[in-house]
Amino acid sequence: MTDEAFDVMVVGSCMTDLVSQALRLPKAGETIHGHKFFIGFGGKGANQCIQAARLGAKTAMVCKVGKDFFGDNYIQNFKDNAVHIDFVRQTSDAATGAASIIVNSAGENAIVIVAGANMLLGSAELQEALPAISHAKVLVCQLEISPQTSLQALRMAQENKVKTIFNPAPAIPDLDTGFYTASDVFCCNETEAELLTGSSVGNVEEAHRAGQELLKRGCGSLIITLGPLGCVVLEAPQSISKHVPTPAVTAVDTTGAGDSFIGALAFYMAHYPTMPLEEMARRANQVAGVSVQADGTQTSYPFRKELPAELF
Ligand code: ATP
Repeated sequence: MTDEAFDVMVVGSCMTDLVSQALRLPKAGETIHGHKFFIGFGGKGANQCIQAARLGAKTAMVCKVGKDFFGDNYIQNFKDNAVHIDFVRQTSDAATGAASIIVNSAGENAIVIVAGANMLLGSAELQEALPAISHAKVLVCQLEISPQTSLQALRMAQENKVKTIFNPAPAIPDLDTGFYTASDVFCCNETEAELLTGSSVGNVEEAHRAGQELLKRGCGSLIITLGPLGCVVLEAPQSISKHVPTPAVTAVDTTGAGDSFIGALAFYMAHYPTMPLEEMARRANQVAGVSVQADGTQTSYPFRKELPAELF
């Protein structure tokens, strides 16, 4: 393990995407020919970690993969992206998380996700990572691992005065209020904000309203991302909701844009701790805006050298 503190640590998921493209989706019991197959690296935790690393953050991933081909492959992917793997554990008790995805010619899909080893990440692994977590600048969590593990990690960070970002994705109804109070920044998208508030979040006005309601639940700041409309940002105690628009771009594939945004946000929080959150969100919008202009998830995430100097 390295002695130097990490800028960004992510406690979260790794998933291997197995993608088949076919003219149509098969019916139950049917076998059909597809025309293209590819394997992609995904999982919200790993995506966010890799985006932060590509911007220049010193990152470490705390996660669990299977003792299998996909697990070995994922560890190599972390190495290729300069993500520290001291806290990546392999288990024989479950397979590496996988998403089997079929996409038809209309772009519709059918997906089966098996979280596998992700769900076996728990207290023991967090305790092993605690010395590093307690010295990190920013810790990021989502909900693709056991919620108890996420909450425990956020609390560990908070007790050690490490800044926390929590991304409640995929959203669960009746989210424990502890997640709000353990979040310096609570960052969700429109769908998650809708599920958490029970109100429609389809435009900036509605996002302002949902943001006010979520902020009252105890987080330090709140961001709701709004796709091509950018995001809204609210900070306690003022709770003034500000819309941060993003430049218009031609989007070709928005998969993983939310993770690119959060990875970038984590980078900015670690590197520019006194920068106003609104400015961090403006820059994170631009990074995520680059990601939507290329195909794939991690394959579309920009490196620092590909971005304008004014973002650094
Ligand atoms: P996903 O589930 O696909 O990962 P998401 O729904 O979590 O994404 P979005 O709110 O769609 O997240 O997008 C996150 C950020 O990405 C936005 O705040 C914005 O900065 C950028 N973004 C997304 N879509 C577009 C777009 N069409 N044009 C420009 N920027 C975009």
